[in-house]
Amino acid sequence: MSTHPNEAALLAMITGRADELAEITRDLIRFPTINPPGDAYRPCAEYLGERLRKRGFDVQYIRAEGAPGDTDSHPRINVIARYEGGPGPCVHFNSHIDVVEAGEGWTLPPFEGVIRDGKVYGRGACDMKGGLAASVVAVEALLDAGVPIPGKLEISGTADEESGGYGGVAWLAERGWFSRPRVDHVIIPEPLNVDRVCIGHRGVWWGEIETLGRIAHGSMPFLGDSAIRHMGAVVEAFEERLYPRLADHTTVMPVVPDGARTPTLNINSVHGGQAEPQEGRLPSPVVADSCRMVFDRRLLIEEDLEAVKGEMRALLDSLSQTRSGFRYHLRDLFEVRPSMTEPDRPVVTQTARAVQQVLGRPAALVCSPGTYDQKHVDRIGKLRDCIAYGPGILDLAHQPDEYVEIEAMVQSAQVMALSAWALMSGGK
Ligand SMILES: [Zn+2]
Repeated sequence: MSTHPNEAALLAMITGRADELAEITRDLIRFPTINPPGDAYRPCAEYLGERLRKRGFDVQYIRAEGAPGDTDSHPRINVIARYEGGPGPCVHFNSHIDVVEAGEGWTLPPFEGVIRDGKVYGRGACDMKGGLAASVVAVEALLDAGVPIPGKLEISGTADEESGGYGGVAWLAERGWFSRPRVDHVIIPEPLNVDRVCIGHRGVWWGEIETLGRIAHGSMPFLGDSAIRHMGAVVEAFEERLYPRLADHTTVMPVVPDGARTPTLNINSVHGGQAEPQEGRLPSPVVADSCRMVFDRRLLIEEDLEAVKGEMRALLDSLSQTRSGFRYHLRDLFEVRPSMTEPDRPVVTQTARAVQQVLGRPAALVCSPGTYDQKHVDRIGKLRDCIAYGPGILDLAHQPDEYVEIEAMVQSAQVMALSAWALMSGGK
């Protein structure tokens, strides 16, 4: 009996399952797993779990009890399915099952999974139910290849990635589901394009700056102190001192697109003074005593989060020194440290090799400008052997008329099957 699958036959088998791949994607899209609030997690997880149970997987449903948003009406249900083959390593495919709301501007129904012109349309098609379906077809093809599975295969469908992963991968990682010895390699089929292997992501710091003033009558602003003018000074200091410094950074992270290879700072919102006047009403004449800015600072792997916070605080403190009456509060809202695995890890090299084999061109190693669940696998699970690899175009994620190309799903399923086999066989 052979111990190695006939690779040409394996790839042909997956090509022959293109329709099935599209149908699984369609079925998954039909569960409107919108987060927030976290709808339809249970039926979506059960669809996945029951399919894999029939193929000999041991299936567990794990509710993230007590996680943010977990209630009896919206339980945070995760599914993990495991196939015990030989003594080789465990390869885990992790997909989030939640999607963002459909939003406006669709020309097709967002939760029907319309299949047209070689594409499957719907919310979550590319981010990331198409990738989940590809991983299912990849592992099923390995089971059908006629040779014993040399290691272990896992597929998970997890909750709440779009809201930080605290009821999903983070919760599971805290309980050992994403650590050795259970798991050796994790592939997250996020939509990074079929020819790219994503080795990590930038970090995030969201914060709020509030400048303080003193209220007075608007006809005599000299009697007060405008918090909005103080915020203007903050924005000016960003322009003159902070943005040029951010643009100066270089990084080893191959972030795509290129513009994200420096740290970035977005000003999400600025609100000062009274609320916007309602239609037909005049505003009251007062000097603003408070102005708030929410910002979104993205970090490179070379940056230390505490140092980044210190840089912001130093800038604000310098305004306190130079600007009469300047007072502020700085609050943390959310933070994620950057994560990047080493390019010579087997999960990277074997997936890149499989891309070359399937597509006939070298894989690009990239990093994501935004964050995804790799941070939890790395930081909590202490597992460095994690990448994102999957079909679909990242730019389409969260857009109206989101779609995934069936051909890209087939190709990525082929890559996943070859990579998983090599990793379970101990390939370096
Ligand atoms: Zn995603």
